[in-house]
Amino acid sequence: MLTVDRVTVTYDRTPAVRDASLEIADGEVLALLGPSGSGKSTLLRAIAGLEPATGAVRWDGDDLAGVPVHRRGFGLVFQDGQLFPHRDVAGNIAFGPRMQGMPAGDRDRRVAELLELVGLAGYERRQVTELSGGEAQRVALARALAPRPRLLLLDEPLSGLDAELRESLALDLVGVLRRAKATTLLVTHDQEEAFTLADRLAVLDEGRIRQSGDVVDVWRAP
Ligand code: ADP
Ligand code: ADP
Repeated sequence: MLTVDRVTVTYDRTPAVRDASLEIADGEVLALLGPSGSGKSTLLRAIAGLEPATGAVRWDGDDLAGVPVHRRGFGLVFQDGQLFPHRDVAGNIAFGPRMQGMPAGDRDRRVAELLELVGLAGYERRQVTELSGGEAQRVALARALAPRPRLLLLDEPLSGLDAELRESLALDLVGVLRRAKATTLLVTHDQEEAFTLADRLAVLDEGRIRQSGDVVDVWRAP
C-alpha cells in the first residue's frame, strides 16, 4: 500500500501542498479532488518523485526518499499523454517492458493484450501523431500499465478531451482499472469523474487535505 505521511511541497517559500497525509490500499482507486491551483498535481508529482518534498512517501512501509522516478514501480499518465512521437503505438506501449528486459515475443503479446484492454485492438502499427485525443489517452494508459506498475498515477487524464468523449472514456476507464486491478491515484477537478471512477476521495483545498473517505460519505457530508 501507498502511505503519504505529512508531505509538504514549497515553491519560493509558499507551500503548494501542506502536511498532506493519505493512504491507498492495494487495488483501490483514490481520487484527489479539488479546484485548480489547490495542489493536486504537485502532490501527485511529489508521490512520483518528480518534486522535492518534506515528509515521507512509503510503499509497504519502505521510505521512497532517494528512489528515482523510474525505480518506484509507478505508472504515470498526464493530461496530454506525452507519447513518444517518433515511435508507433506498439513502440510506445512496449517501451517499459523492453526496459525490463522482456523478450520480443512476450512484448508483442503484452502489447496486444493491453490494446485489447483499452479498446484499441489492432492499433500496433499506427503512428501516434495520427491518433485522436481519446485514442492517444488510451495508448498512454496502456503504456503506463505495460510494466505492471504497483501504482498508477493519473493526472487529469481526461481533461484535454471534449465533454462527450470525457464521459464515455471515464466509463471505459472504470472497466480498465477494475480488470487491471490497478491501485490508482487519480487527480481531477471534476466531481463527476471522481465519483464515477473512485472508491475513495481526498479533497484538497489550498494545499491541505480537508476531507477524505468513501465516495458516498464525502458526498453526503455537509
Ligand atoms: P492543481 O493541480 O490543483 O491545479 P498545482 O499543484 O498545479 O494545482 O499548483 C498548486 C500551486 O502551486 C499553484 O499555486 C501553482 O501556481 C503552484 N505551483 C505549481 N508548480 C509550481 C512550480 N513549479 N513553481 C512554482 N509554483 C508552482
Ligand atoms: P495543470 O494545470 O495542467 O495541472 P500546472 O498548473 O501543474 O498544469 O503547470 C504545468 C507545469 O508548470 C508544471 O511543470 C508546474 O510545475 C509548472 N508550474 C505551475 N505553476 C507554476 C508557477 N506558478 N511557477 C512556475 N511553474 C509553474
